[in-house]
Amino acid sequence: MRTPATKFGGWPRGFRCAVVLSFDVESWGGRCCKGLEPKIKDYEVVRFLLNLIELLDSYRVKAHFFIVGKSLEQYSSFFKGLVKDGHGIGGHGYEHEDMGLLTREDQERIIAKTKYVIKENLHIRIRGWRCPGLSLNFGTYCALKKLGIAYASHAKGPARPFYVSGVLEIPLGSRLDGDIYGYDVSRGGTPKDWLTYMKRDLSKAFQTGSALTLGMHGWVQYKYDPRLSVLKALLDYIDRRRDEIWITNLDEVAQHMGVRSSLET
Ligand SMILES: [Zn+2]
Repeated sequence: MRTPATKFGGWPRGFRCAVVLSFDVESWGGRCCKGLEPKIKDYEVVRFLLNLIELLDSYRVKAHFFIVGKSLEQYSSFFKGLVKDGHGIGGHGYEHEDMGLLTREDQERIIAKTKYVIKENLHIRIRGWRCPGLSLNFGTYCALKKLGIAYASHAKGPARPFYVSGVLEIPLGSRLDGDIYGYDVSRGGTPKDWLTYMKRDLSKAFQTGSALTLGMHGWVQYKYDPRLSVLKALLDYIDRRRDEIWITNLDEVAQHMGVRSSLET
């Protein structure tokens, strides 16, 4: 059941809206989905993600990364660096499972396993979750709540955060990067199209005082914007409005709404 967040007193320090750059990191070479062969080499995505972190640092922006447990087990040092640099971490399944097809009990098992792997490797207790492929069902929020996940980011917005079965939803933008570019198969959208959509969502968030989580994927960005030139243009656009746009990670937005930090174990 969807209910509005009570006592919403606006964003901190007089900001007009809250904006989060989020990246789903399914695996290095594509996705952990069963039956899909990675089309991009590991080292290419690693190099790209390191460049991405450097770009974010140059703008003093902390982003949010939804990560897959299996990738974390294989490449824990990269993810440890993200935590050390102050970027937010959320769960994205253990093997990028399609949660919408699973029973509540099976979803609980996957959430618990992902949480455990993140706790063991990164020493943080995640509070946030995004279902792979944004696929969920009636049991998902109950499973998240039961496993101590306090917030999620699935709904298309931008909009004010709201609650679903006791879990805070911090909405995404109207489209993810793959909705415009395409995932495995190109949809014909260009980097310019993507930037246009992002600016449109930003403008809407600004006008309505909403939260806006921009949904991206490491491998999709690499595929369509390998030199990060369009992402840089977006960061320039946000930077010019820095005194009015609160650009942060989802943990901080959730904390502002009363959720405990992931760093509190
Ligand atoms: Zn994913």
